[in-house]
Amino acid sequence: MTAKIIDGKMIAEELRVDIGKGVEKLVGGGGPRPGLATVLVGENPASHTYVKMKRKACADLGIDSFPHELPATASQQEVETLVKELNADPKVHGILVQLPLPAGLDEEAVLKAVSIEKDVDGFHPINIGRLAQKGREPLFVPCTPAGCLILLKKAGAKLSGAQAVVVGRSNIVGMPAALLLVKEDATVTICHSRTKDLPGVCRQADILIAAIGRAEMIKGDWIKPGAYVIDVGTNRVDDPTTKSGSRLVGDVAYNEALEVAGAITPVPGGVGPMTITLLLQNTLRSAQRVG
Ligand code: NAP
Repeated sequence: MTAKIIDGKMIAEELRVDIGKGVEKLVGGGGPRPGLATVLVGENPASHTYVKMKRKACADLGIDSFPHELPATASQQEVETLVKELNADPKVHGILVQLPLPAGLDEEAVLKAVSIEKDVDGFHPINIGRLAQKGREPLFVPCTPAGCLILLKKAGAKLSGAQAVVVGRSNIVGMPAALLLVKEDATVTICHSRTKDLPGVCRQADILIAAIGRAEMIKGDWIKPGAYVIDVGTNRVDDPTTKSGSRLVGDVAYNEALEVAGAITPVPGGVGPMTITLLLQNTLRSAQRVG
């Protein structure tokens, strides 16, 4: 079997065209121009790159972006005061606090300070709580897991009644991905570093989501023939054959998985492009709600 490759780049691009049209329609109809505020604390180079990418993506689709940078020495109160000012600013429809925050800052308290109506990352405890509850809907769903679900649906995976395995239980990917799958009526097993016989558990999966952060850990013979595999991992490994001396790989041994899976996301070009796109979609939805 050769797996179908789920082209996240193309699916994200199609979604962005729709979001761009949504922005024009909202503004053309007298509504507000959607605005995303980014809060970047400290000097983490990867965080700076991510925030830059998010600002550029906003500009491409006509979404206003309001960048805020604080030094790594910023106090808890300074960060929370900034978030509260952004909560009160009518031009801001979404607030993104780039994680991780520097050591010493209370991440949970900062995320809790974000108004749930502007929580476009979907990390506010109330939004996550609603995601976990039957019959309740969050205002926003975390972007990476939401992207995984869209990719599965676009690839034609049947979620209702499926055996799904999520490897990873982080607040930002694994756990919300599992909650979303439960909402879709899948039967979900959540795995982590203490899981016994991980290969055996993975082999049961019709749907396998890998969000571990370990290069190519999931081997081809861990995958059930025909399974849908979503690889969230982004791991940089040495590769002297490339110009930069390194390349990105996922958490799944891609070439092996290609021979067994029914469908799989590549790394890069799978889940990654969906994450920022869903952030833009959440920002548009927030502006539509008030407009
Ligand atoms: P994380 O917070 O480090 O969580 C990793 C999870 O994997 C934890 O639950 C951990 O278990 C589990 N784990 C670690 N080693 C394991 C092992 N040997 N066997 C089984 N489970 C193991 O990471 P994250 O933030 O969720 O990110 C996961 C990956 O996705 C990373 O590569 C990250 O770069 C990538 N990512 C990509 C995007 C994107 O847009 N493409 C977005 C976010 C993250 P414990 O809970 O027991 O420690």
